[in-house]
Amino acid sequence: MCVDLKEQVAIVTGSSRGIGEAICLELARGGARVIAASRNVDRMRSWISEHPDLADLIAPTALDVTDRAAVEGAIEETLERHNRLDILVNNAGITADGLVMGMKDEQFDSVLDTNLRAAFWTIRAVCRPMIRARRGRIINIASVSGIMGNEGQANYAAAKAGLIGLTKSVAKEIAKRGVTCNAVAPGFIETDMTNVLPEELKARVKQVVPMQRFGRPEEVAGMVAFLAGPAASYITGQVFVVDGGLHT
Ligand code: NAP
Repeated sequence: MCVDLKEQVAIVTGSSRGIGEAICLELARGGARVIAASRNVDRMRSWISEHPDLADLIAPTALDVTDRAAVEGAIEETLERHNRLDILVNNAGITADGLVMGMKDEQFDSVLDTNLRAAFWTIRAVCRPMIRARRGRIINIASVSGIMGNEGQANYAAAKAGLIGLTKSVAKEIAKRGVTCNAVAPGFIETDMTNVLPEELKARVKQVVPMQRFGRPEEVAGMVAFLAGPAASYITGQVFVVDGGLHT
């Protein structure tokens, strides 16, 4: 059953594919008006066209989350157009894996910029309007790498651990104003991000995941919709792991 999100307005970053696409669809199924924001607008138009029943609820919007002015502009425009912003999902993310001893500054910075700094910008921009409205849900897509660490992902794990720290701190700052801030930490999910992993590594991962498979984007989206919905009104500052039992 869908979470009831009628009348609500949501922004989801990193929506052109994978987990972001699934989150947009799940929020729209609940009745939310969704601003799907990422760089590849054609790709968003393409998956939206496959869901004619939801197409009117999802607005594809060009956004590079590493451009601060563009991030702030997108949030301002949403508030102007809809006069409200109820749900922010920070989902945009990249990897640039490599062992730390050979990691370039640019490799570290780009991952921190997209996965952490951009979330700081969006959160800073939505805080005031959400506090004023005494209503709002901020949901950050972290990763089990940010909890457990991961070989070859010092940059990514640092960004996701930072995102978890950001989540918990923001939650404490805005809790009394009726705004919640939580993180979802997926394990290995079937998307373009993991499709590039060598087959041999994928097979090894499946052996160590107790459910013995990768997750589906919809399985992360369901948790996000729950956190956006009425049943999660007293939950804040938490990290929800969606990983088939990998991290216990
Ligand atoms: P994906 O298939 O590679 O999709 C990443 C999304 O992020 C794309 O829609 C991409 O859109 C967007 N993006 C990247 N850079 C951006 C930028 N500068 N501005 C705006 N959007 C940007 O990855 P995914 O697996 O769906 O990952 C979604 C989130 O889940 C990420 O935060 C990732 O770290 C996290 N996660 C994934 C897994 C997994 O196993 N897949 C596990 C744990 C956590 P454009 O290229 O169109 O901009």
